[in-house]
Amino acid sequence: MGKVAVAFAAAAVVAACSVAAVMVRRRVKSRRKWRSVVEILKELEEGCDTPVGRLRQVVDAMAVEMHAGLASEGGSKLKMLLTFVHELPKGTEKGTYYALHLGGTYFRILRVHLGGERSYLDVQDVERHPIPSHLMNSTSEVLFNFLAFSMERFIEKEGNESNSQGVKRELAFTFSFPVKHSSISSGVLIKWTKGFEISEMVGKDIAECLQVALNRRGLDMHVAALVNDTVGALSLGYYHDPDTVVAVVFGTGSNACYLERIDAIIKSQGLLTTSGSMVVNMEWGNFWSSHLPRTSYDIDLDAESSNSNDMGFEKMISGMYLGDIVRRVILRMSQESDIFGPSSSLLSEPYALRTNSVSAMHEDDTPDLQEVARILKDLGVSEVPLKVRKLVVKVCDVVTRRAGRLAAAGIAGILKKIGRDGSGGITSGRSRSEIQMQKRTVVAVEGGLYMNYSMFREYMEEALVEILGEEVSQYVVVKAMEDGSSIGSALLVASLQS
Ligand code: ADP
Ligand code: MG
Repeated sequence: MGKVAVAFAAAAVVAACSVAAVMVRRRVKSRRKWRSVVEILKELEEGCDTPVGRLRQVVDAMAVEMHAGLASEGGSKLKMLLTFVHELPKGTEKGTYYALHLGGTYFRILRVHLGGERSYLDVQDVERHPIPSHLMNSTSEVLFNFLAFSMERFIEKEGNESNSQGVKRELAFTFSFPVKHSSISSGVLIKWTKGFEISEMVGKDIAECLQVALNRRGLDMHVAALVNDTVGALSLGYYHDPDTVVAVVFGTGSNACYLERIDAIIKSQGLLTTSGSMVVNMEWGNFWSSHLPRTSYDIDLDAESSNSNDMGFEKMISGMYLGDIVRRVILRMSQESDIFGPSSSLLSEPYALRTNSVSAMHEDDTPDLQEVARILKDLGVSEVPLKVRKLVVKVCDVVTRRAGRLAAAGIAGILKKIGRDGSGGITSGRSRSEIQMQKRTVVAVEGGLYMNYSMFREYMEEALVEILGEEVSQYVVVKAMEDGSSIGSALLVASLQS
């Protein structure tokens, strides 16, 4: 071999080596980046861990806080609000009644016709519309004018058929925000949640605001009850099955109510009801306990929300927030590695990822996760390799699993408080035979998250069995109540007339 040939061969070897070195370096770098992303996932899994022991601590904390909230005003982060509902619809109600429901994302209007028997419940003309976002931080006048206008259009459509006797139409106002009631048909707004911010409305009587707006439009309607959405769901549950004593909503936000003995509501001594009990609106979204598994994503989400230091439980378990927790994890992964490609400004935008997209990704059953790819693309993250898409599904799973399991712990906490968890409750003094006599207990559940996200539902139901044990679980029935908040509120108004 000549000198030139040797030099050429040597140069070729050097070049090949350096190419190989670059490739190895790239591979090492990419492996390191992948490892850092996997590390973020691992950290998330650890931070969101909910072994049954921890869930039981949450159960106990919920029951303890319920006691504290019933004992004195401001005694707990759980407000345990009086609803003045002490009788629930029995099934014998008759007539036509209306409900107008302001939720966190949707408002609904419907009419029910009741024939005096449980089997004769006719739900008519259910209308469901997204709440125009500008209303959420407008004025009370704008908001209530809008609701009254929507009601007017609803009534116009029905003609005269439902009001032939010329009597006033009886309306339930289902309102999914915390209210301090002075009677079943009046109460003032305590605070806004779920992104609503009309500050001048705090302290105002909500039912009156609606009545004034309806009157202004000349509508012959009477706001007969102001009903929390959970209380509506409980009413529908009880109407169909009198073993229903608890209702929980998992929609944009989350809340629960239950039937409590009047003598257990210590902060309102002297309150008398014919039934000896009253429905208590827990406002459980504001529940807090050091046993809740909180991550840096939860802390940041809270700090940047319009109601920071508030509604801590709701921010871990409800539809408004799950998407944003997932978004924050993906954002951090994309910042620490380039596996998501060039950075996307949309991904940094709060609430850009909705919880219905989380469920669509989580439940994507296409072999190459096309739905995940589509949703990420909508977030400005395109051409994500399959293994990264799988990682995103895992993030959805971790966040939703924690939510479902904590939701179950919340429900078990209520069951514990009322002695339906098989342990005899946290108050002592029950006899053994009483403890062993487990009553059938129905928990009515509604809300868009629960109804539409099957993995959330499955995780919740699985954890409830884990916490209660197989035997006690047989007595606890979780029943879905589609549109329960609105329908049940109308039934409640019907029961007030009979
Ligand atoms: P509101 O809270 O206004 O009463 P819903 O009870 O219908 O209304 O709940 C709506 C919320 O439920 C949505 O904002 C969303 O967070 C959640 N949701 C709706 N559909 C889905 C879905 N397919 N998967 C996951 N969450 C969903
Ligand atoms: Mg709702």
